[in-house]
Amino acid sequence: MYPDVQLFIDGAWTPAASGRTLEVLNPATGEVLGRLAHAERPDLDRALAAAERGFKAWRGVSAYERSKVMRKAAGLIRERLDHIARLLTLEEGKPLAEARGETLVGADVIEWFAEEARRSYGRVIPARAEGVTQLAIKEPVGVVAAFTPWNFPINQAVRKISAGLAAGCAVILKGPEETPAACAELVRAYADAGVPAGVVQLVFGVPAEISEYLIPHPVVRKISFTGSTSVGKHLAALAGAHMKRVTMELGGHAPAIVFDDADIETAVKILAANKFRNAGQVCIAPTRFLVQERVYAEFVGRFVDLVQHITVGDGLAAGTTMGPLANPRRVVAMQALVQDAVQHGAQVAAGGKRLGNTGNFFEPTVLTHITRDMRVMNEEPFGPLALMLPFSSFDAAVAEANRLPYGLASYAYTRSAKTATAIAAAVEAGMVSINHHGLALPEVPFGGIKDSGYGSEGGSEAIEAYLNTKFVSQASL
Ligand code: NAD
Repeated sequence: MYPDVQLFIDGAWTPAASGRTLEVLNPATGEVLGRLAHAERPDLDRALAAAERGFKAWRGVSAYERSKVMRKAAGLIRERLDHIARLLTLEEGKPLAEARGETLVGADVIEWFAEEARRSYGRVIPARAEGVTQLAIKEPVGVVAAFTPWNFPINQAVRKISAGLAAGCAVILKGPEETPAACAELVRAYADAGVPAGVVQLVFGVPAEISEYLIPHPVVRKISFTGSTSVGKHLAALAGAHMKRVTMELGGHAPAIVFDDADIETAVKILAANKFRNAGQVCIAPTRFLVQERVYAEFVGRFVDLVQHITVGDGLAAGTTMGPLANPRRVVAMQALVQDAVQHGAQVAAGGKRLGNTGNFFEPTVLTHITRDMRVMNEEPFGPLALMLPFSSFDAAVAEANRLPYGLASYAYTRSAKTATAIAAAVEAGMVSINHHGLALPEVPFGGIKDSGYGSEGGSEAIEAYLNTKFVSQASL
């Protein structure tokens, strides 16, 4: 049922030249699902040569045609929904309903960028001299090296590939080694839709070996990375040394600020759903729940109540609302963060432990009596941990929200329009969602500031990152 996954180079699925493979594990059972081709230098050299040719061909295809091919790929993803979503749950662990949602959003992302492909307009700049025409023209950056993680095997990849393809670039994607099959199905949809050979390459291997080879390589003109801040800083420095364009979508530690005039029931419902979606392994997951003192006890009580109703289990089982963590590293990380917090005085209001001995299951966890010296208050937990902190005033909430070097997502709940406007202005974050969860749609900007990175992976800003501006000034003879 789960396929062995190969590399995709120059329009063909292929094993690694060395024949090497890696194991892919089921996070719900720990069992081996299948094997994955492991690329090394010779494979990367083939991918680079193919991408160079692919770029030359694809940039010559009209934006109108590129758009048609991409829309066909979106249609294929929708046709193959059941198959792709199942693979996604098997390898990543998320409940099937979430996997289906991710797959469908993937199709929407392709379609959005397909439309944007036709709108990479330049502009005409009024000239000082008569007979002179001044044009700002948009051209594709070139070959893109993209690196995507395991938490959203489709959605992290589809944003980079689609923005690149829409702009006329060729892409070499280093996909997620732990969750490769759904990502491979995404690439298959582009290929089956008619994206020419060489335009999209998919490789897997040792991430550091691949990035250290591809980023400095002269064929590669742009880097896009999604993952942890520490790796992102390393890759951005490498890209900087070689003057490559960069998009960095890194970690977060999102504050969710609940004022005492908020609709508490709605706030609890939406925030809890988004805390435990994908077992908390989401860069925009709310993490620090800053709740105004007067409603703190009510908010925590209702939140804990809701958490007790989460059904943790195999993502393929009916009724599961939270799956296992995607890999054993996250279980170890959760245990260490909870232990450290408890040692520093935190109280466990719900969960707090690994579940069973098979698979990477961890209880949805709520911690209270939180202090700023705890590791979990400073490191991105990237798992099902919710931290509850009371606050006294608007300024105190803002000070805590902005205390960390992260600046990705933030959330606020209030019935006051004045407070909503003020908090949107005061929070240092790339995204603010007020009174609902309104982030990550294909058509809206998506990205962080500070240590959360730079650039956008959504909206028209996203395609800009794959375009160069060329200025042409022409005098009539
Ligand atoms: P990690 O830091 O080793 O890896 C994170 C991602 O970066 C993985 O996809 C990995 O393949 C890739 N990576 C690591 N070193 C690389 C290199 N030298 N070159 C290219 N790619 C490289 O940790 P992990 O255990 O896989 O994930 C844990 C942490 O990563 C989390 O705590 C979270 O902060 C972060 N993360 C963030 C996102 C996100 O959506 N922003 C997704 C996954 C992981």
